[in-house]
Amino acid sequence: MKGFAMLGIGKTGWIEKDKPVCGPLDALVKPIAVSPCTSDIHTVWEGALGERHDMILGHESVGEVAEVGSLVKDFKPGDRVVVTAITPDWGSLEAQGGYAMHSGGMLSGWKFSNFKDGVFGEYYHVNEADANMALLPSNLAPETAVMLCDMMPTGLHGAELAEIKFGDTVCVIGIGPVGLMSVAGAVLRGASSVYAVGSRPVCAKVAKEYGATDIINYKEGDIVEQIFEKTDGKGVDRVIIAGGGVETVEQAVRMLKPGGRIGNVNYFGEGGAISVSLAPWGNGMAHKLIAGGLMPGGRLRAEKLASLITNGRIDPSKLVTHVFHGFDKIPEALELMHNKPSDLIKPVVLMD
Ligand code: NDP
Ligand code: ZN
Repeated sequence: MKGFAMLGIGKTGWIEKDKPVCGPLDALVKPIAVSPCTSDIHTVWEGALGERHDMILGHESVGEVAEVGSLVKDFKPGDRVVVTAITPDWGSLEAQGGYAMHSGGMLSGWKFSNFKDGVFGEYYHVNEADANMALLPSNLAPETAVMLCDMMPTGLHGAELAEIKFGDTVCVIGIGPVGLMSVAGAVLRGASSVYAVGSRPVCAKVAKEYGATDIINYKEGDIVEQIFEKTDGKGVDRVIIAGGGVETVEQAVRMLKPGGRIGNVNYFGEGGAISVSLAPWGNGMAHKLIAGGLMPGGRLRAEKLASLITNGRIDPSKLVTHVFHGFDKIPEALELMHNKPSDLIKPVVLMD
């Protein structure tokens, strides 16, 4: 079969590979819609996972089941499914401990385009199919549903990690597709004010539509000062980090009220370490918590998040600014994600 792959750090191209083998608990799926992710960019051009050769890219896909293993109970060939970016081993000790995304080791629930070929192939392999796929609701368009694989679960996880409560004031640092879902999640969890940090007007517009009360442009001055100006010097109850570099953690600590909480879902690739100045952290005694995590995967969560869309609570279709048609358009869509033109939030490739 054909797949679009990372050939080495900084290099991509089409390759031929054998069709994956379907184990008894697994499924083989043919993509219907895929979306390239900022994480694919970190993987290829920043070598975030280290060297990888001839590894098919992609981890966000809605597809049609082509084959299921003998022990798969709930799916059959022809079913249309959402496959989560993180596909844990649900029997692992980490999963039993409540952190399935770290099954098999830290971050190891992330298998696609990491430990095995990803979803930019004619077929892809899904481990533990009953636990890692959800039926695509019949009234949900594949180009919208593909936001259930990673953007929605990650953005909403930022709001979960920050433990947003009714009436909280929240700053969301970074409003790409992930941060935009954090804005929507913060509003859904009852935030009173949401300060959304970004610079591109296309993202600012959608942030407002999702309920951001203010937009803060990080290119127009220190975001901490801008937050203090807008909050009469009080700062915010919660911060979600979904963009920027390591300096955002220090900024988040500075803008946070005592007792506040930071939910980080951003990937930090550069900078070596996170530093937090002592005074804004109450010299260690401010009850300012920093939490960070990989998105939770799996069927139950995908079904629950899908019901948020089908019941009209969140509309992730606003994230999809570019739709391509045809398998051969994957490189173009990935390149768009690499260059991030000013009108882009998220591209989707439909295989029709
Ligand atoms: P984008 O690159 O699309 O968005 C990044 C956002 O951060 C943009 O709004 C950008 O502003 C803003 N930004 C850039 N620099 C700064 C800065 N110095 N200060 C404040 N804001 C800044 O990324 P995505 O939304 O696609 O992904 C966000 C992160 O989430 C990535 O690091 C990705 O790897 C990670 N991720 C994590 C996952 C997890 O499981 N935890 C899963 C998926 C992704 P603008 O462009 O408007 O200038
Ligand atoms: Zn992704």
